[in-house]
Amino acid sequence: MLDTATRNIKFLPGVGEQRATLLNRELKIFSLHDLLYYFPYKYVDRSRLFKVSELAGNMPFVQLCGEIRSFEEMGEGVGRRLVAHFTDGTGFIDLVWFRGIKYVKGRYKTGEKYLVFGKPTAFNGRVNIAHPDIDAASSVQLSEMGLQPYYNTTEKMKRSGLNSSAMTKLVHNLFELTGGKVEETLTPEIISKHRLMPLADALRAIHFPKDNAELQTARYRLKFEELFYIQLNILHYAKDRQMRYVGHRFATVGETFNRFYNEKLPFELTGAQKRVVKEIRRDVNTSRQMNRLVQGDVGSGKTLVALLAMLLAKDNGYQACLMAPTEILAEQHFSTLSRMLSGLPVRVELLTGSTKQKERPAILEGLATGAVDILVGTHAVLEDNVQFRSVGLVVIDEQHRFGVVQRAKMWAKNNIPPHILVMTATPIPRTLAMTLYGDLDVSVIDELPPGRKPISTQHIFRNRADQMYSFIRRQLQEGRQVYVVYPLISESEKLDLKNLEDGYKQLCNIFCDYRLSKLHGKMKPKEKDEEMRRFAQGETQMLVSTTVIEVGVDVPNASVMVIENAERFGLSQLHQLRGRVGRGASQSYCILVTDYKLSEDTRKRMEIMVNSNDGFEIAEADLKLRGPGDIEGTQQSGIAFDLKIANLARDEQLLQYVREVARSIVEADPQCENPLYRVLWEQLRAIKKRNNWNWGAIS
Ligand code: ADP
Ligand code: MG
Repeated sequence: MLDTATRNIKFLPGVGEQRATLLNRELKIFSLHDLLYYFPYKYVDRSRLFKVSELAGNMPFVQLCGEIRSFEEMGEGVGRRLVAHFTDGTGFIDLVWFRGIKYVKGRYKTGEKYLVFGKPTAFNGRVNIAHPDIDAASSVQLSEMGLQPYYNTTEKMKRSGLNSSAMTKLVHNLFELTGGKVEETLTPEIISKHRLMPLADALRAIHFPKDNAELQTARYRLKFEELFYIQLNILHYAKDRQMRYVGHRFATVGETFNRFYNEKLPFELTGAQKRVVKEIRRDVNTSRQMNRLVQGDVGSGKTLVALLAMLLAKDNGYQACLMAPTEILAEQHFSTLSRMLSGLPVRVELLTGSTKQKERPAILEGLATGAVDILVGTHAVLEDNVQFRSVGLVVIDEQHRFGVVQRAKMWAKNNIPPHILVMTATPIPRTLAMTLYGDLDVSVIDELPPGRKPISTQHIFRNRADQMYSFIRRQLQEGRQVYVVYPLISESEKLDLKNLEDGYKQLCNIFCDYRLSKLHGKMKPKEKDEEMRRFAQGETQMLVSTTVIEVGVDVPNASVMVIENAERFGLSQLHQLRGRVGRGASQSYCILVTDYKLSEDTRKRMEIMVNSNDGFEIAEADLKLRGPGDIEGTQQSGIAFDLKIANLARDEQLLQYVREVARSIVEADPQCENPLYRVLWEQLRAIKKRNNWNWGAIS
């Protein structure tokens, strides 16, 4: 059998050096295998004929059979076009060409029978088809045409003649070459139990389906397989770790925990907080290492949950460490914890890049002897010279800055790895969480503390900015503070920074009686922290910045979040930004400023923001609108899922289903040694190698 994975695409008949270069560069197709897995993005049914009388605007592609009655040239300049009046006896439709007019007129004749294929659109109340495909009706057997595959190609490829139909030919050649034979990648049991199409049939059918039913069966098989291996990888990784590591057991709820809970806690825990604390207690009371992700919308009270877990560690004779992604966040946590724990025999220390040299030895010594109970810090705590006597719990705040790699580093600090609690406000939709963090158990704080007023969100067009300025002024007069955020993306960085500078100058003019801070990613970390501190402490009233405002930073006095060019932000990002306000008890506002002209998608995003304050609802909507590739955190996590056929937004049920299948395999063969499953482990290894999933346990 031909090994498609190692055979260079340039050796496929019809390719050669030049086309190979294009395929490499434009589509990342290097081997025959890559082409085999380059699936059509749509299919067009050319076995069915429509009647002109059935047509309406915005229908998908249709095929008609009839004749052209007359041609007519209309318009001038760019509007110049050729119109053919076409009929099949049930009505008339216009076929329209804007280019190649002479060619079309010479090629097609009135009174002949043609098959016309294209997409109807409504224009000025009439339905027409622009630039249709036309074949002489006699030359084509309808039933033979079946479902035609269409492949995405780039402009560069099209210019070299590598369009969709050229790609179709290449795939044909590929099947000729291999005879359609490929090695099966699932076991016979899985295939028969879940009624899957064999791989060879599925691959042929995905490129050249006989009919829609066959296509759907093929898609199901390929999606199943794609999701299955992702889950097999992640679950095996989790299992392997579970077998390798025992965890510290926190068996008792002791005095510190109880005293804090009964004497110090200034409010009642929310139901959701109680539930999550219980889940954590259950985890740490077994001898397995806990790996738990706590998701909670901004302001849901994750810090308190972390604190209770850390007190549990202390009561059982262990130290705890709370890691934050930035110094400013670490400082905030440090002062919150110190304040809440005052009067209790718990020593808390702070360690960041800015901790003074002369203060370090005492902290490091306290850690080594066990005198320090809780260490709050940044990446600095990962350094080798930071040694704990016995760290039992590590809390990582705002997960998406700490990938799997950092977690692994923390485990390496002790013989027995500490329990890990990851806290995130990024509401990761369930499907994505299962795929990205499938090795973590997930707890959700789905309830806000009582008395919070929902943030009032408004969408305004830029030409109404004056009204917004007077609104802001009233808030400033009441002593409140204001964020103004500008987008910044690397592709248009210069222009974006200029926008920020211009905006800042303008705001300085309008609000000349107030003090403004400016913050952007090009500033030194020290300067950024200093500006952020000035704003946090109320020395400045307005913070004009790019998106560098830190996740989790708490300035309860800030009541307005203005997001400029809101059209350029994704939903989750907008929601994250909005979460910077609404942290105190009084009413807060978010103002989304956009251009007047908006795409359909953007309009929808703004609408969702105005109507919902629920991070999970928004994240689900985001996943549906944008697809998972863009969700914050997926890039940083270091796991690039280049899904070829499955869709995390649409295939949630299937994902859950294959997860159970994968789980049963991992349970049945945790050591990967049962010959029954050899195919699966070998395939997983091959996939990991191809996709650089280099963090799992199988090597
Ligand atoms: P986040 O989940 O965004 O990290 P924090 O832990 O910073 O949220 O909590 C936000 C605010 O809510 C803090 O001021 C905290 O003291 C307060 N808070 C937390 N839990 C409760 C509760 N159960 N009742 C009232 N206020 C609470
Ligand atoms: Mg927080």
